[in-house]
This record gives sequence, C-alpha cells and structure tokens, in this order.
Amino acid sequence: MRRPTLGFLLVAACSGAQPDPVEDAGPLDSGARDAGSPRDAGSARDAGARDSGTFDAGAPPFVPPLGPLTIKKGAGSVLSDAWLVTLSHSDVPADARIAELGDYLPDSGWLRAVGDGYGVGIIGHTHYAIPRASPSMFTNLSVSTLIDEGIDAGWWPARPSDAGTLVWLAVYGPNALPENHFSGEHFANGARVLGWVAPRADGGAGWYQTVLAHEVIEALTDPRFNAYFTTSDPLFNYVPGGGNLSGEVADLCQRFPAAEERGFWLPPSWSNRAAEAGRRPCVPLAPAQYGTLWGPTAAVVLSPGQSVDVALPAVGDLASWDVQLAPAGNQSDFTDVTLRSTRATPGTPLVATFRAHFFAAPGSVADFLLVSAADSGYPGVTPLRFTVR
Ligand SMILES: [Zn+2]
Repeated sequence: MRRPTLGFLLVAACSGAQPDPVEDAGPLDSGARDAGSPRDAGSARDAGARDSGTFDAGAPPFVPPLGPLTIKKGAGSVLSDAWLVTLSHSDVPADARIAELGDYLPDSGWLRAVGDGYGVGIIGHTHYAIPRASPSMFTNLSVSTLIDEGIDAGWWPARPSDAGTLVWLAVYGPNALPENHFSGEHFANGARVLGWVAPRADGGAGWYQTVLAHEVIEALTDPRFNAYFTTSDPLFNYVPGGGNLSGEVADLCQRFPAAEERGFWLPPSWSNRAAEAGRRPCVPLAPAQYGTLWGPTAAVVLSPGQSVDVALPAVGDLASWDVQLAPAGNQSDFTDVTLRSTRATPGTPLVATFRAHFFAAPGSVADFLLVSAADSGYPGVTPLRFTVR
C-alpha cells in the first residue's frame, strides 16, 4: 500500500517538468510583476518548486568525526580512590592467594594497562576471613547482609579504611550457587559498592583470580552502571560482549584467555586508549597483527534523497584484509550503504557511500556493520549507523 504512493512522490521529486503545486504561487506572481523574460521567470519557478516541495534538499549531510570504536562514559563517576576489601569464606581454596592478589592489584602492571585512560585507581586493600563456610545458595542481597553481619559480629570494622571508597568483594567456595548462576558480579547498594566472586566447579585458584580481577576493573570503571557501560550505546550492539549483552570493560574481552603476571591469572579488558592508538583494544594481550576500520563516532544524518561519501581510515599493522558489509538490526528498507572496495589497506581510507532514498522515512535509523576478515583481530566490526532527518 505504501509503495505506489512513494513511486508517485519519487517521480514528482525527480522531475523538473511537474506543474507547480497551487500553493507555490509566489514565484509566478513575482515573475508576472517584474520585467524579466519568461525564461527567467521559469527558472525562478523551478527554484521555488524545489525549495518548497515535499523533498526539500534539506541541510547538508552531517558526518560526525571518524574514529575508533570506544566506550563513551555515561553521567556517573568512576572510582579513582578505591579501597578494596576482600572477604573469604572458610571453604575458599587458596584463600591466601586471594589476599596476596588484593595486595598486589593496586600497583600492578595489569591495573595500569586496563585502567589507562579511565581515571581509576586502588589506594589500598584489606583482607578478612569469614569464620564459616559458604552457604549453598546466595543472592546479591545476601552479600549486603553478610557485610552488615560481619560488622555487628566484629569480624571486620564498619570502615576498614578511613581513606578512599570501599569496594567490598565477598568470595564464595566452589559449591556455593549464586541465584543468577554467574561466576561473579559487582553492584551498588545505596552508597556501598560491593560484589562477589563464586567460580563454581572450581577451575582452580587461577580462575578465582581472573574472576576477582574482572569484577574489580568493572567496579572501578562502572561502580553504579552509569559510567563506562555499553548497554545503551547502539554502536556496541554487535560487538561480542557489548551492547545488548552485559557490556562492561572486562565483559567485552572475556573471550580472550587470562594472562599470567607475577603468578596471578588476570583477565584482558577493553582499553579505549589502545583503540585510539589503533591497537587491538583488549589489554593486556600478547601482541598480534591487527587491522580495523574506523567509522563515524555517532550517526551520519541525511535528508531523504541525499548521499555522502565517507572515507573511513584503515588502521593497524596488517598489510591488508578483506571487509564485508552486512545490514544489522534497525535496518531500514529505504536507506543504504555501499563500499567502493572490499579490501582494506592501512594508509588508504576505504570509501563508504551512505544513501538515503527519496522515500526514506524521516526519523528512520539504519545500522550496517563493516565486518573485517576474522584474522584481522577483535572486535572485527565497525558499526555504521545513520538516521534520516
Ligand atoms: Zn563483567
């Protein structure tokens, strides 16, 4: 039902020979009044028709700055002065190593790498033993209750440090089942920042370390789910671990293995700084050949009928790699992107043409992904989003 109407409008918009709409009488009047030739009046009439017609040429296309895919910070704050408090149940294996890890993290190379550019830091750590074994099941609320219970019982003080913002992490034995079946989580309860670590079917002390460090960097960068968090950022919708999934810095890199540092197994995490430098954004990771295309850092905005060429920088140390264009969610039938080449070469921008059809619906949004060949390195996708004004 929509297409015949649109077809008529498309003809009207493209043809200079259509009669003027009745309400567009201004140029005709002025043509009759002044002494210009009929030909001049004709030009004036055509210009008038274009200006006031349904398919106004509109404002020029808007192309936002081009850059790497980075996590934008929300309105919330990060923790630059965390004081880490770890609490271990009596059935936690290698509990002494968890205490040592907490002491090691503030000055670790790992924290310098994963925290670089986010303004986060840990100023100290205290570890306490919980004088009983883990419950068989627990919830986030159980962790809050446990902290209060330990304060009342004198297992730890209400403020283990006078300095900094406390980050409480309760560690559970391998048989404790969290209600949500995750391996770890951090959250906020009122002013308190807290979390838990519960790797079931014990993967060993190394797995405890990896999960604990994962929660630490996410609690620092996103203590209240409103700082570095990709879930509301459509550009991350198609990045593994981002967008519609969990969407914090360590989640985005959890497909990669932990790396050993001073005998601890610590997870890679998303670094905006690495991405901005044209390197693979999960750090620390062993160096690897890497290539990516930078894209618009927000939506390209076009009026119906407009198109614009955008030269996307190709970045990395690979000689060249294949790219493919794929439509993604929010795909509109009436908008399009095409590539001038399907091969990316660093130093030579890849030209993508964004095109909004004459009959594109105002306000519609279209998402495309530029997918780099699998061996070009994570994340391998460059989101291309545009909207029709
Ligand atoms: Zn996480």
